[in-house]
Amino acid sequence: MSSPKVAVQTDPRARLISDIGDREVVIWGARMTGIGFARFAKAQGIRTRAFIDSDPALRGKTVSGIRIYPPDYLAELVATGTRFVVVLAVSIKEDEIISSLTGYGLSADDLIVYSKYCKVFYTIDVVGSCNLKCPSCVHGTPDNSMPTGLMSLDTFKKVIDKIKTDAPLVTHVGLYNWGEPFLHPELHHIVDHLHRNDIAVAISSNLSFRFADRLDRVIKANPEYLKVSVSGYFSKAYNNTHTGGDVNLVKSNMYRLRYLIDRYSADTLVDVNYHLYKDNNGINLTKMRELCTELGFVLSTVNALVMPLEKVLKHCEGRPDPDTVRLSENLLVSIDEGISAASMFKSSRCSFMDNQVNINFDLTVPICCTVAERQGNIVEENFLASTPRSIEEKKAQASICMKCMAYGLPEYNMGYNRAAWDEIASSKGSCDSGSTGGSQTT
Ligand code: SF4
Repeated sequence: MSSPKVAVQTDPRARLISDIGDREVVIWGARMTGIGFARFAKAQGIRTRAFIDSDPALRGKTVSGIRIYPPDYLAELVATGTRFVVVLAVSIKEDEIISSLTGYGLSADDLIVYSKYCKVFYTIDVVGSCNLKCPSCVHGTPDNSMPTGLMSLDTFKKVIDKIKTDAPLVTHVGLYNWGEPFLHPELHHIVDHLHRNDIAVAISSNLSFRFADRLDRVIKANPEYLKVSVSGYFSKAYNNTHTGGDVNLVKSNMYRLRYLIDRYSADTLVDVNYHLYKDNNGINLTKMRELCTELGFVLSTVNALVMPLEKVLKHCEGRPDPDTVRLSENLLVSIDEGISAASMFKSSRCSFMDNQVNINFDLTVPICCTVAERQGNIVEENFLASTPRSIEEKKAQASICMKCMAYGLPEYNMGYNRAAWDEIASSKGSCDSGSTGGSQTT
């Protein structure tokens, strides 16, 4: 007797929908990947019960109309006998999260790892320049080889067409890598275009700009996620690491953002990403937290690390550049301490290599988001003429990756083992004077 034929789903969208079945979904990860999946789920009629996120900064917040709970909420759900499935929707640190899921009483069938369906996460650096010159950024690196310019709206549309051909399931796109997206005069059209293609939008900005009309148009377009990068509340600390910016302009734009979000009833999650240094982890942090509470924004902290990758590699090879030496004096967690803390999760794989494709404004494709130098690090000269396989193969041959992985830098860049980083940081104290002085030290 021949066995019945079972239809095998090869389309990842259909497979994902089928694997979820009629169960309610709890999304682990309330930032961009999770938000993108939530948009997809809603369009498919899948009911999302809640977001889960281990970041305390997100607790009690609502994103895309869905409440965010801490991980313990899972145990509560299991205890009530609720039928649900957890969709783990993150682009990095997946293995660290999976290892933390044991103990919640979930079976293997209760967990769907989103990256097994959505294989590639795309970022498009629509602007190849920045108005600031921060010491931990390629645009703040003297004599960097980075060309400058903008991706035109027409080219952007071609890139999205190509992405949709290459990847059957794409639910969000990040519009930044090193560049400042608000320097693009048509950013609102770019956001609209992604939404027309059912793709959620992530933007990251320093918010230190005078484009009031542009901010208005972009918020009216309702991007799902807006990260604001800051490193202080008062000018002195802020200027040390956001070189060329004006924190009072940032704060005034934060108020404007609140006004615009209310005016347009936008769903945009504003995530104020506060880079922690020795000179800003006291009164500066307290004041910025108060401001974020007042405005209803998320304040998430990150122990500052050194970027781009080449600077860290030089440090590891015993030949740090002067900027890195100067910056290191202000770090709460030194490069070596960060590498050591993250090494607990050291792996033979790198998720930047495995599941991310970065497209520069000029259509070149770098190995990953962390590298600055072009020489040897561009795997495709023209994304539109590439194939997913050619990108994958050329990435696999990149010589810089061998060194990077040998030193444990993927895990360092992703900030694995946050608890250990925080413990190290707390042993360093603070030199946050709260001074409002505006002189720049870099
Ligand atoms: S191994 Fe390093 S250089 Fe290579 S993709 Fe990963 S982070 Fe980038």
